[in-house]
Amino acid sequence: MWRVCNEVLPTNFNLFKRKILDKPLCPICWQEDETILHALWSCLAAQDVWHNCSRKIQKLKSQWHSIQEIMNSLDSTDQQDLVEELAMVAKRIWMRRNEFVFKQEFKSPNSLAELAISDLRDMRNMQMKNSTRDQRLHNQNVNWSPPPIHVWKINWDAAIDKAKCKVGIGIIVRNHTGSVVATSRLNRPLYPDLALTEAIGALEAARLCHHLGLTNIILEGDALQVIQVINSRSENWSSTGMIMEDVKGQLSTFESWSAIHIRREGNKATHELARNALVTSTSSLDVDCIPSCIINFI
Ligand SMILES: [Zn+2]
Repeated sequence: MWRVCNEVLPTNFNLFKRKILDKPLCPICWQEDETILHALWSCLAAQDVWHNCSRKIQKLKSQWHSIQEIMNSLDSTDQQDLVEELAMVAKRIWMRRNEFVFKQEFKSPNSLAELAISDLRDMRNMQMKNSTRDQRLHNQNVNWSPPPIHVWKINWDAAIDKAKCKVGIGIIVRNHTGSVVATSRLNRPLYPDLALTEAIGALEAARLCHHLGLTNIILEGDALQVIQVINSRSENWSSTGMIMEDVKGQLSTFESWSAIHIRREGNKATHELARNALVTSTSSLDVDCIPSCIINFI
């Protein structure tokens, strides 16, 4: 509908104004200039189609100054259905006009209204499909889930303390039963930039796996950008690019690895660990025991 509302459809009137045609008349009725309003709404051939549409459309008054004016009169959320129906029918009317001009074919008003209704149904089905797919994707990475057997999953997260100019990193290593194998808390006197800290966190997570002698790993974090960079083949020249190249180098030494995104809700335990790392004075590595600060989150 955008093209219609901006008055740019190539109607005879518009082509006449641009000196492409020498007559502005409607090619169907030959009674009036073919403006957009005429072609899609007021031409008798178009009105025949609108009379076959829903009652609400039939109740609209017939005199308007522009399509935009009709749309504006409907532009409230409870009339969204009507706006969609109007758009679909107008599109079909314009397609029929072109078929007539270029192929001398002319569909009946009734069949055109039916086609528009079927377009509308298709569009709503598509919207429904997309929204259930989005919902599924949303649910997929909300909850933490254990890795397959013989694979370790490593979650990491970052926290920053702007006032004290410190960053904290939390790393949790778990096996296929979901048991915590090791945790690491790191704190550094670094510029408190979250993106940078997330990148350093990924590097520290990969280093820890190497240190523990793990060979098959899944790196999981809630920093979507970091995950995307790890999974991309191209080199990255952003401020965190050098660190990310180190992460990729480190990961290439494992037998198998993958990097996946989890939503924050699923990474809560690691986030708590990172926050705790900010308040502890030294970095620590705990093997086969769960630090008390995250016991309620595991
Ligand atoms: Zn006409």
